[in-house]
Parts: sequence; C-alpha cells; structure tokens
Amino acid sequence: MTHHPIAIVGGGLSGLTLARVLHVNGIESTVLDQEPSPETRTQGGMLDIHTDSGQLALRAAGLYDEFRALVHAGGQATRVVDQHGVIRFEVADDDRGRPEVDRGHLRDLLLSSLPAGTVQWGRKATGARTLGDGRHEVTFADGTSITTDLLVGADGAWSRVRPLVSAAVPAYVGISFVETDLVEPDTRHPASAELIGPGFFFCLGDNKGMLAHRETDGSLHVYTAVPAEESWLDTIDFTDTEVAKKAVLAHFPDWSDELRALVADADGPVVPRRIHALPVGHRWDRVPGVTLLGDAAHLMSPFAGEGANLAMFDGAELGRAIVAHPGDTEAALGAYEREMFARAEESAAQSAMSQELLFGDDAVTRLVEQFSSHAMPTIAVVLASTRPNRAGEAVARWVLDQAAARTDARFELVDLAEVDLPPLDEPMPPAIGRYSQPHTHAWAATVARYDGFVFVTPEYNHGLPGALKNALDRVYAEWNNKAAAFVSYGHDGGVRAVEQLRLIMASLQMADVGAQVSLSFRTDFEGHHELTPADFQGAALTRTLDQLVAWTVALATLRVPAAA
Ligand SMILES: Cc1cc2nc3c(=O)[nH]c(=O)nc-3n(C[C@H](O)[C@H](O)[C@H](O)COP(=O)(O)OP(=O)(O)OC[C@H]3O[C@@H](n4cnc5c(N)ncnc54)[C@H](O)[C@@H]3O)c2cc1C
Repeated sequence: MTHHPIAIVGGGLSGLTLARVLHVNGIESTVLDQEPSPETRTQGGMLDIHTDSGQLALRAAGLYDEFRALVHAGGQATRVVDQHGVIRFEVADDDRGRPEVDRGHLRDLLLSSLPAGTVQWGRKATGARTLGDGRHEVTFADGTSITTDLLVGADGAWSRVRPLVSAAVPAYVGISFVETDLVEPDTRHPASAELIGPGFFFCLGDNKGMLAHRETDGSLHVYTAVPAEESWLDTIDFTDTEVAKKAVLAHFPDWSDELRALVADADGPVVPRRIHALPVGHRWDRVPGVTLLGDAAHLMSPFAGEGANLAMFDGAELGRAIVAHPGDTEAALGAYEREMFARAEESAAQSAMSQELLFGDDAVTRLVEQFSSHAMPTIAVVLASTRPNRAGEAVARWVLDQAAARTDARFELVDLAEVDLPPLDEPMPPAIGRYSQPHTHAWAATVARYDGFVFVTPEYNHGLPGALKNALDRVYAEWNNKAAAFVSYGHDGGVRAVEQLRLIMASLQMADVGAQVSLSFRTDFEGHHELTPADFQGAALTRTLDQLVAWTVALATLRVPAAA
C-alpha cells in the first residue's frame, strides 16, 4: 500500500490550487482524480474570477500573469432581457473587475504548473477510513488503497471523503437546468448571437429563465432553468435531442420565438443537470488529519457565481495555513476551517438569495435594480486614527452622512482600529504579491473590494499616522489604479499629513484628486471633539467627492489590465 504524506482526493480547481500553492512553497502532495485522463471530460463553461477570492488564489499560486493571458476579452458584458426579448439592462465589458475565463483553460493552467506525477488519473475513491493518530486510508474503485498523514477531500459535490467529518448530503434546490449549445452562431444562428450579445445573458420571467454566455470559441452556451420536481428530468429521454427540446420548451409556451430558438435550434446534445446544495452554514467539528475544500465542503447553487472562486481560495488558504504551521497539521487545519466556515456561510447565503431573486416574482426588475447598484463604484472612507477618544470618528461620520445623499457611488466605512494590523510582518515585498499572513490576506481582500478611497486622517508630528502608513505599505496591487481623496484634521487642518500622503499615492500608483478638505481644531471643532464644520467645508467635501467619483469611474478601464 502506498503512503502519501499529503493526499488530495479530487483534481478540480480546489485540489489543483492547493497542490500548486504547496508546491511553490516547497511542499509536495499527491492529487488523486477519478477521471481516466485530463482530457476525458470537457470542462466547458465560463467562470468570472473575483478580485477578493479567485484572483487572490491565483496570486498565491504565482499564476496571476498567466491567468490574465487567458481572460476572455468582452466576456464581462452583461445583458438582461424579459421574456418578450426586450433588453432591460445592458453593460459593456468595463470596470467590474471580474474577468471571465474558460474553466478548461484555468484547469489546464493549474495542471501544467504542477510537477509531472503530482496528479494520478483513474483513481476513483470509493471510501476512506481513519487509522487513528490523524492518519487515513483511502480505497479506490480498482481495488487499490493508499494511506496518508493528511487527507484533503476536494472531490466535489458527492465527496467520498466528506462522511469522515459530516453526515450532511446535498439537497436538490428545486431548480433543474438543461444545457444546450449553439455553435458558430454568428454565421449559423445570427439572430441568437445578436440576442445574447458578447458576454453574459439573463432572460427571466414566470419564475424560470434562460441564462447564456458566449464562450471563448465563439459558441453560445445556454442554461435553461426550470423550477421542477427532482424527478422531472427523469421523465425526459435525453438520447433523443428533438424530444428533449420539445419537453423543455413545453415550459416556455408564451416566450418569444427568438428566445425559444435558443433551445429549439441548439446543436449537439441536450444535457440535464439538477442543482443541489449543502445546508447554508455547513460545518463540522475538527477531525484530526482530514479536511474538505470547495464543493465538498460547501456546495452551493451557482446563482451567485461563487463556487469556483471559493474553491480556489480554499485551496490557496489551506496551502497557506499548512505552510504557516510546519509540523502542526491540526493547527493548520483549525486555522483554515475557522475562516473557511465563515466565508462559505456568507457566500452560500448569498447564493440562496440570488436563487430567490432570479426565480422569484419580478425577477427582471429586481435583477436590473441589483445590477444598476453594482455598476456604481464602491468607495471606502478609511478612518486612519486608531486612538481611543479620536476626533476622526466624527469626521468620518460627517463624510459618510454627506456621501449618503449621492447617487453616483456607494460609500462604506473602513476603520483601521477594527482592521487592527500588526507592524509589517511580511517576508516578501508587498509589490511581489506573495502575501503570507492571514491578516495581510484579509486586508488585501478589503482593499481589493473598493474602487476608490477617502482617507480621513489626523496629523501627528507634522505627518500621517503610523497605522495608516502601515496599512498602505502592507499590500500593493490592490491599491493600483484607484483614486484617492483626503479629509484631514488637526491644528493646521492636517495639511502636512496630506502632503506626505500625496507622495505615497504616487508610489502606489494611485491618483490623488486635487480638491481636499482640511478641518481645523481652531475653527471646525468645539473643544477638539465636537465637529462643527464651517459652512464652506461642506462645499469643499462635495467638490472633493465629485472629483473622486469622476476619477474612480475614469480609472476603471485601467484597473483590470494594470493589475496584470
Ligand atoms: C451549472 C453550473 C455553473 C457554475 N457556474 C459557476 C460560476 O460561474 N462561477 C463560479 O465561481 N462557480 C460556478 N459553479 C460552481 C463551480 O463549478 C464549483 O463550485 C467548482 O467547480 C468546485 O470546485 P471543486 O474543485 O471543489 O470541485 P469540482 O470542480 O467538482 O472537482 C472535483 C474533482 O474531484 C474529482 N472527483 C469526484 N469524485 C471523485 C472520487 N470519488 N474520487 C476521485 N476523484 C473524484 C472530479 O473528477 C473532479 O476533478 C457552477 C456550477 C454549476 C453546476
């Protein structure tokens, strides 16, 4: 029986990301996948890769630049139509920072980044049992078995490793998909190509939908979503594509002909897929020597587009935890699971809410509202003072109150006292993007989430506060190509702190707007704490935020390419 110190069952995005992150940190592992070879199953479908999860994982894997080369230009364009085919919302591939890649290309990238022999194909796990002391045995369909010191279940929805930690099984969510393709649509199906457009397409109504996107080879992939009994798909003969198409279209009798053509004119097979999910908040008590990644840990419906992103992020985070706790697997698994449970619960709840939105009443109107608000930039108001009794809290609140009336951007508070970063403890320069500490990853994810920043800063000894300098220095790419504005306060309005910040902005590739607000303890506060800004300060803040939003929007086109 072969022994593998680290055995990862499942060579999907989660398992491969873990193997890669371990490899770049000098730790080898073995991935065991049921597929006979990497080419057995086409991996089709597009994935949008999020800045705060999938992209961070690719950075940790040292594959970010290679990933950028795979991005499907134009794929982020989004169109929403109603069941009559009327376009209700449209946005070009612009600034949303969620580049689309072909799932197969991403998997190939990860596979090719691993040393030969890391992945063993044709290894279908049939069960696993504990041997005590954190060791496990895994058995395979071909009758062989292995032992391991660390068993990672990355084997997807129907994981054979999951029963070691949890009795949960995925439940049907009430929606069935039927997948079809239209190949060479520009010449063979021009009306469908025109309808769907260059990127992602949603058509919703009557509590069902047709979701589609254009793939990198130009073909159109269509998911027809029907709320149905779990057994509905069993009533259809999918070996006869014409019969299957009719059975599906029977659910869309009064949808426009051009929409029905997405199914009626499809080329190739008609593929059924039931959508399942684990309970929101699925978690387990620590079991020595074993853990789960990705869908094995937190299968969720695909309606928020989170699953693959979380799967890769899990892989990167577990890899990081193992590296950070040499010789102490339990500490590594405990640290990984604590954070994974929290983020998975949030995303699973979001996926369930998205399902309700897409297939609930007034779906088109509600989706359009959601997209319209997402299209707005999100700006962080960074409260730089961490001092108890700080005056900055009142200043940040004043900024947020005034910003709340704006309809061109959303503003959120980021309080450095709550972020609570220790002094810089990263071994590699942040510009290299190889962060090692959990607090740096968390801070990078926070900074990545925002399109622009208002720094609310005091002036200490003619300079900026140390907490702000530490926060700025700790990450790099996440700041790049974003706009910044300043609201300072102090005896002389905090202007010297802002002058220093402007020098730092240049180094972080940030664009600092000219207008600023400088609040003086002499004229804009009562007794140093009660903020009573002079009238002109309100106008100065409006001018500052106007410039900030304008530059935030203008820089959006730079952000995606510049991060590469
Ligand atoms: C229709 C649909 C659309 C989606 N769209 C998106 C999207 O747009 N964005 C997004 O982020 N996510 C999306 N997802 C979710 C995403 O596909 C998954 O969350 C992601 O693939 C999970 O990765 P994973 O590595 O955990 O599991 P998987 O990708 O399922 O990989 C599991 C691996 O384990 C192997 N395996 C399985 N069983 C065994 C076994 N017994 N022994 C050995 N090996 C085994 C499999 O061969 C496979 O290679 C979508 C899902 C669906 C169903």
